[in-house]
Amino acid sequence: MNGETMLKRFKSWSLSKCIEKTAQDLQLLVRIESADAKGFASCCSCGRRDHYKKLNGGHYVSRGFKATILDRQNVHAQCVRCNVIDNLPGYTAFLDVEYEKGFSMELMERARSIKQWTREELVELRIQFRKEIKEHRKRIGE
Ligand SMILES: [Zn+2]
Repeated sequence: MNGETMLKRFKSWSLSKCIEKTAQDLQLLVRIESADAKGFASCCSCGRRDHYKKLNGGHYVSRGFKATILDRQNVHAQCVRCNVIDNLPGYTAFLDVEYEKGFSMELMERARSIKQWTREELVELRIQFRKEIKEHRKRIGE
C-alpha cells in the first residue's frame, strides 16, 4: 500500500484507530527485528526464548501514553506472561543494558509530554515500519 492509499484509508478512520493500527505494526516490527534467522527472539523481561509470532510487542510505559506508544525504544519483544503480569523489574534491567543505566526514567519523561499525532505522521511511520517488517521477513525466510 502506498502512502496516498494509506492516507486515504486513515482519513476514513478515527485518529485513535490510526494510532492503534500503527502501534500494531510497530509491535510486530520489534518482535521480528529481534528474531534470529530461525525466527526466535528473547523476552525483554525474563529472557525466555520463543518464536516471534508467539511473543508480544510489550510497552514499557503503558500504551495509554500517546507520546510513547509509537516510540521504538519503548516497545520490545516480550513473552505473553511477562506482558500480562507487567514484569517491570526485568524490563527495567533490560533497558539499562540495551540503552543506558536509568533509561526507564528517560522513557517516563518522554511519556509525560503531550503528543498530538497527525494522520500524515502516522502514515509515514507505518510505511517505514512495514518496509522494515518486509525486509525482516525476507531475512528469516518467510
Ligand atoms: Zn518473559
